[in-house]
Amino acid sequence: MAEAVLFIVATPIGNLGDMVPRAVEVLQSVDLIAVEDSRHSGKLLSHFHIKKPLVAYHDHSDERRVNGILNKLQQGGSVALISDAGTPLISDPGYRLVKLAREQGVKVVPIPGACAMTAALSVAGLPTDRFIFEGFLPSKAGARKKQLEGLKKECRTLVFYESPHRIVDSLQDMREVFGTDRNAVIARELTKTFETVKNGSLQLLCEWVLADTNQQRGEFVVMVAGDDTKVDIELSEDVMRIVEILAEELAPKQAAALAAKITGVKKRELYQFLVTDSSENNN
Ligand code: SAM
Repeated sequence: MAEAVLFIVATPIGNLGDMVPRAVEVLQSVDLIAVEDSRHSGKLLSHFHIKKPLVAYHDHSDERRVNGILNKLQQGGSVALISDAGTPLISDPGYRLVKLAREQGVKVVPIPGACAMTAALSVAGLPTDRFIFEGFLPSKAGARKKQLEGLKKECRTLVFYESPHRIVDSLQDMREVFGTDRNAVIARELTKTFETVKNGSLQLLCEWVLADTNQQRGEFVVMVAGDDTKVDIELSEDVMRIVEILAEELAPKQAAALAAKITGVKKRELYQFLVTDSSENNN
């Protein structure tokens, strides 16, 4: 019997030219394609002359639907999962299917391609050595603010997905919680006609989006610089020298880890010293 494979296939986030050749080959070769929305994916598939049986899949699909896909795999069939855009499972359906498939010993193979998060980070000009992906913030104001409060002291770059209905509210809440001066970047409509990447303080970005309703349309990735307030600890001259010398040869994370072993100072404090220091040098 043929080996069962579940392919997790990324599709473009706007520009069909971003479809990778391997994704087309795989979609042309599988027995079944699980899609988020058959009308939406139908357009993409017909563009690439792919004619395959489709089945709708969501993480809340009923058991029968999910078992149908798993049965196909157990019989040695191959299945591809795609979402409406980008990489499945990244704020998109797929988690339940991948988990069950792996539990049942099915081989799960990624076909990488577009993802709004990585595309946005790659052009933002914010630190990318460490970042956290928060996906969509809660829609209710109270829950959203609470979530943002919990991220206030986070020193890694923060990445959020946002919709046109909530971009203004979310930006205003970010400004209130993180402060007017915190640096951020909005990446809108990436790979599409009205692609816009704008950086500035949260104050500036709020004013800019409010002043132009066109900037409230489309799809958004909002990235916010991590908290760079100086740690409340004085590093001695020697410690600073050691970590700075190491940082000449190593990435900040590794330099901080090694300096922590040498000096006994906490890794997080040394890391924060390095990233704060380097962003100040860049200004
Ligand atoms: N799985 C997708 C991925 O890999 O990026 C994300 C799917 S999620 C349901 C949709 C959200 O992703 C949008 O609301 C927006 O925040 C972001 N997004 C998708 N396409 C985008 C684009 N072309 N430009 C900016 N953000 C985009």
